[in-house]
Amino acid sequence: MKIAVLPGDGIGPEIVKEAVKVLNALDEKFELEEAPVGGAGYEASGHPLPEATLALAKSADAILFGAVGDWKYDSLERALRPEQAILGLRKHLELFANFRPAICYPQLTGASSLKAEIVSGLDILIVRELNGDIYFGQPRGLRESPDGLFKGAREGFDTMRYAEPEVRRIAHVAFQAAQKRQKKLTSVDKANVLETSQFWRDIMIDVSKEYPDVELSHMYVDNAAMQLVKAPKAFDVVVTGNMFGDILSDEAAMLTGSIGMLPSASLDKNNKGLYEPSHGSAPDIAGKGIANPLATILSAAMMLRYSLGREEQADRIETAVKKVLEQGYRTADIVTPDCKRVGTVEMGDAVIAAL
Ligand code: NAD
Repeated sequence: MKIAVLPGDGIGPEIVKEAVKVLNALDEKFELEEAPVGGAGYEASGHPLPEATLALAKSADAILFGAVGDWKYDSLERALRPEQAILGLRKHLELFANFRPAICYPQLTGASSLKAEIVSGLDILIVRELNGDIYFGQPRGLRESPDGLFKGAREGFDTMRYAEPEVRRIAHVAFQAAQKRQKKLTSVDKANVLETSQFWRDIMIDVSKEYPDVELSHMYVDNAAMQLVKAPKAFDVVVTGNMFGDILSDEAAMLTGSIGMLPSASLDKNNKGLYEPSHGSAPDIAGKGIANPLATILSAAMMLRYSLGREEQADRIETAVKKVLEQGYRTADIVTPDCKRVGTVEMGDAVIAAL
């Protein structure tokens, strides 16, 4: 089993190091090969997704990814910015299904900005389509406005579009995920305004006929944003497009207290996947040794489960993470009174001790 390790920028290298430490502490040994990506890729070879890095990602059984991005690259042309690496990997590897669980550990309810009774025991899964939508739709660009009130003025434009097979394949993934959970699927769209969303909704309804055991409901994205803070436990699995999913999954992340706790998986049709924390490269805390490595360690657990077929090892890591929380270990982002405040490395060590 070969794992491509792509630490990236900012806190990426610090948190990936801890996840690698945990993987190396397991009984089974994996082949781990590291390559630069994002700003680190740009520094090494002039492109955020160097050819050698892409080749490694393609040849590996799974990819463990840190995070990319730094403000110092903001002035680069868009195609060379670090964030293009993640978009490129998703596109080249056809990683179309993004799984983002949002779980509120009982020990961390105090870290949430919401009342404990609203979030305690929260366990929802956001399934976000990752390869289409307005993030990739062509045409896009800058031009002279061809019509309307501001005809002739400069304008920026993007295109929201979804092809039927794209919606069908994410629908199947989401229904199957719901089947393994509480069998409730909420499809989030903006069908009252957008043609793309009405089309998405029609296809969701059609695919639902193949999953009579799953209860499908629909919600407009603005309402979903409200319900996520009002009554998040009413959700089980949420399926939505690329842009709405980007925003809602960050919102769901904060319900749990810290974005530093949340793993994610992006899978292709064969369950090969890229595993990364839900957060970014956090340049504001990079190099300080205070980043929370648990989202990345939990991403490694998801990798063992979904791509490498090592369910038992995944369970071991997840149990170890629960144990360190019970023992009171906390990084700065989830700090509570009377806890044992630790840095990135100490948190990794605590997980290994708990293993
Ligand atoms: P961010 O997720 O990096 O940070 C948001 C806030 O959360 C910051 O205050 C940060 O300190 C904190 N935070 C994030 N992860 C943490 C952790 N593990 N432990 C403790 N605190 C943590 O989002 P941002 O500030 O909007 O973006 C920073 C950079 O990351 C940008 O360049 C952005 O493009 C990039 N980004 C990359 C990815 C990715 O690599 N997949 C995703 C999102 C953002």
